[in-house]
Amino acid sequence: MIKVQLFINGVWRDSADGRTIPIINPATEEQIGTLAHASKSDLDEALAAADAGFTTWSRTPAFERYKLIRKAAEILRTRADEIARVMTQEQGKPLAEAKMETLGAADTADWMAEEGRRAYGRVVPARAEGVYQLVIREPVGPVAAFTPWNFPINQIIRKLCAALATGCSIIVKAPEDTPASPAALIKAFADAGIPKGVIGLVYGVPAEISEYLIPHPVIRKITFTGSTPVGKQLASLAGLHMKRATMELGGHAPVIVAEDADVALAAKTMALSKTRNAGQVCVSPTRFLVHSKIFDNFVEQYTAGIKATKVGNGLDEGVTMGPLVSERRVQAIDALVGDARQKGGEILTGGSRMGNKGYFFEPTVISNVNKDMRMMNEEPFGPVSLMIPFNEFDEAIEEANRLPYGLAAYAWTRSTKTAQALGARVETGMMTINHLGLALPEVPFGGIKDSGYGSEGGTEALEAYLNTKFVTQLA
Ligand code: NAD
Repeated sequence: MIKVQLFINGVWRDSADGRTIPIINPATEEQIGTLAHASKSDLDEALAAADAGFTTWSRTPAFERYKLIRKAAEILRTRADEIARVMTQEQGKPLAEAKMETLGAADTADWMAEEGRRAYGRVVPARAEGVYQLVIREPVGPVAAFTPWNFPINQIIRKLCAALATGCSIIVKAPEDTPASPAALIKAFADAGIPKGVIGLVYGVPAEISEYLIPHPVIRKITFTGSTPVGKQLASLAGLHMKRATMELGGHAPVIVAEDADVALAAKTMALSKTRNAGQVCVSPTRFLVHSKIFDNFVEQYTAGIKATKVGNGLDEGVTMGPLVSERRVQAIDALVGDARQKGGEILTGGSRMGNKGYFFEPTVISNVNKDMRMMNEEPFGPVSLMIPFNEFDEAIEEANRLPYGLAAYAWTRSTKTAQALGARVETGMMTINHLGLALPEVPFGGIKDSGYGSEGGTEALEAYLNTKFVTQLA
């Protein structure tokens, strides 16, 4: 049995009142461990530790911070196999995906560590002789981070390393559905020698923790990844208390397949992308807008790709898609598919829950869709694809931009002119054309509109954790 504890002031421990939550394997529905449920006194200790940790860490030279973060990345690499197994057991994704996520986190840590050494200020030429005008970048302060269960490590590493690289301390409220791999991640940083108090790790009732931490005077910045409705609540609370915020929220990614696209490549690549993590990905391709002249061809090849998915326990060899994370998610997808079916949707493959054990749902393709269907408006966050034909380019753009989301978009075309027009006209935070190129550490990652604000990749990721101070000085 796995035992996940809180990490407060450099110590791994149970919660003050001994409360725990079970950890369930979504492939078997068996309990595989317990996690500690923080009480208010635990949160108070975590806050005091983060306050003291900030003093220590913000005064630690950037070069020393860089060395410790790089060391944590190396530890992560050596433990990747072990961590990936834990992640698959609690989250469901295939082992290969879990390992890729863990190794990817090490790359992100390396990159952020390097960038932390380049948080340059500047000197602005003065109007008077003897005056020095300095622009200084300072860490914003202790951070509260709230992260979801779909990428238990990846969602934390972007926040954790941006905070650490810039000199901030951080309290992570990690996901209760998938707590053990986040704990293993934090352990790598603790074992690397990050001083006590700089990183805290807590679990509990998400709303209770966010409502306590966000207004708390110690916390200077919040960062959240999760659904748009929750993000709006947390952003409001942050606004009320004048806290900096980064919001990485839901999406409903359009995929525009133009008449001149490489249909075979587009169908194959997008089918693999769709089934990754059982579609529980904020950038998962969802609305397929396909030119009517190639519609049947694309849908046939794409559906064949989806049918080739091997669904099963992520620990088993050859499995390419695991279960959904929880019973809650199976019911949510089932309700959305049922609604689409009832409103005239044609299920080309899938459409149902699988087996009688585990939270499995068939990879599903739906055609003959219309805008009244809930799924055409709400983020499905599961292995479902919607097929929509279009005739005119403008029609596709209009549908792509119809929803309040604006996170990721995909497009396939052989024309540079069309590619350029798509890049310019689709309202989105990220766009990938003719290949899959999102989410690398060195490029921006984030949304617009209801998909949130702020970026968790590229140099922008560190900006979000820095204050700008102006000092003018007459010698
Ligand atoms: P949910 O909205 O209940 O929770 C999403 C995440 O937010 C969870 O990790 C949860 O612990 C956290 N959360 C919820 N309420 C919170 C609060 N008041 N304060 C702090 N954290 C809070 O939904 P769910 O059923 O767990 O997941 C499904 C939905 O979540 C999806 O439809 C999707 O939109 C969204 N989601 C998005 C991402 C992403 O990467 N953007 C990741 C996971 C989930």
